[in-house]
Amino acid sequence: MNAPSHLLPTLTAIREVMAEHILPLEPDFLNPHLGFRSLLPRLQQVRQHIKDRGLWAPHLPKTYGGMGLTLSEFAHISEELGRSPLGHYAFNCQAPDIGNMELLLAHATDEQKEKYFLPLARGDIRSCFSMTEPEYPGSNPAWLGAVAVKEADTYSISGHKWFTSSADGAAFAVVMAETDPHAEKYRRASMIIVPMDTPGLTLVRNVSVMGHTGEDYATHAEIRYENCRVPLKNLLGPEGEGFALAQERLGPGRIHHCMRWIGISERAFELMCQYAATRQVAPGKLLGEQGAVQGWIAESRAEINAARLLVLHTAEKIDAEGQYAARDDISLIKFYVAGILQRVLDRAIQVHGALGVTDDLPLAYWYRHERAARIYDGPDEVHKASVAKRIFQRYA
Ligand SMILES: Cc1cc2nc3c(=O)[nH]c(=O)nc-3n(C[C@H](O)[C@H](O)[C@H](O)COP(=O)(O)OP(=O)(O)OC[C@H]3O[C@@H](n4cnc5c(N)ncnc54)[C@H](O)[C@@H]3O)c2cc1C
Repeated sequence: MNAPSHLLPTLTAIREVMAEHILPLEPDFLNPHLGFRSLLPRLQQVRQHIKDRGLWAPHLPKTYGGMGLTLSEFAHISEELGRSPLGHYAFNCQAPDIGNMELLLAHATDEQKEKYFLPLARGDIRSCFSMTEPEYPGSNPAWLGAVAVKEADTYSISGHKWFTSSADGAAFAVVMAETDPHAEKYRRASMIIVPMDTPGLTLVRNVSVMGHTGEDYATHAEIRYENCRVPLKNLLGPEGEGFALAQERLGPGRIHHCMRWIGISERAFELMCQYAATRQVAPGKLLGEQGAVQGWIAESRAEINAARLLVLHTAEKIDAEGQYAARDDISLIKFYVAGILQRVLDRAIQVHGALGVTDDLPLAYWYRHERAARIYDGPDEVHKASVAKRIFQRYA
């Protein structure tokens, strides 16, 4: 499915920015001796350039400085940005901020919008989403250990979280905690905005993931909340609606991830083809003449095309009929595209031989960090089980 014609000038402009300003930053991003913070001044300049060209925050309405795109329009942009590990960050549509922006836009009070949403939309601050806990299964979000107890005009939050991505350097966390342990299972928890400098909040460590601890945006933090008090007005949405809000956050979030993964797959595919078409395995004999490599290239092409069609179909369904109607499609793309991403990356690395596992190319970075695609936002098994159960209902 090609991008609609009205989007083509935007896609061309984005490709120019990616080629001229973002890809040149990749070697330093992939250099293990340089941290993410060292890139921030240059990223800031690129972000300003993107704002000046009117390409900022494609997912946000124009009134908030964004491009005002629908989800299915944004899907095409997200693929383009996914071709570099820095693309989404540069355009201010990176996870977890994009999910928090969407949540705040839909559910924040005017005061919350002024204090948290607007600076986030401008890219002045970052945020994080703090739900998963080491002692409880993240795949069962209705079972949490964190509690938020009302004390006078505050919530006192106590809990232990980890994989709060990008907490290092963030201004606030959206924390999921139980506000009523006696309520019906899916109405026990609420979302509460907690500024990162609130007493009682301790960022214990950035968890080392696949050999990298990272810094600033590129991290996954372990956090303890110990009688961490915030005003009652920091509640996001109605009390007891945390689970519903989390589901709402994840629907478009999975489209964002899947289209980013398709962008990664396309870049890996391109690198694989360029290498196969030029690398000689013997004088005058190209790698691409090997049957095995031809098979990987043909399979990858078919799989990426199929994945894109599925995701765009799902995005259009969400735009037209809402998330609930598209819930099976959302689950299908989540595990299907994550699997394709990993197969394509694996093949691209194999085709490059030793070069494939170096950090001279982004393939090894993605291979390490996108293994998690099959785990976050619902492990494969959970999505497969929920789709299969609904399919069985039709035959029971
Ligand atoms: C890179 C990364 C970034 C993340 N970012 C964030 C973030 O910003 N904020 C946040 O709150 N969380 C984040 N997470 C956490 C993520 O959401 C959880 O890891 C995920 O929900 C799974 O929870 P768990 O790790 O506790 O695994 P568990 O729930 O303990 O599950 C372990 C395994 O059991 C299997 N399993 C579980 N349930 C079922 C079932 N019903 N049927 C069959 N098999 C099952 C699956 O194979 C699963 O992988 C992130 C995780 C990663 C890896």
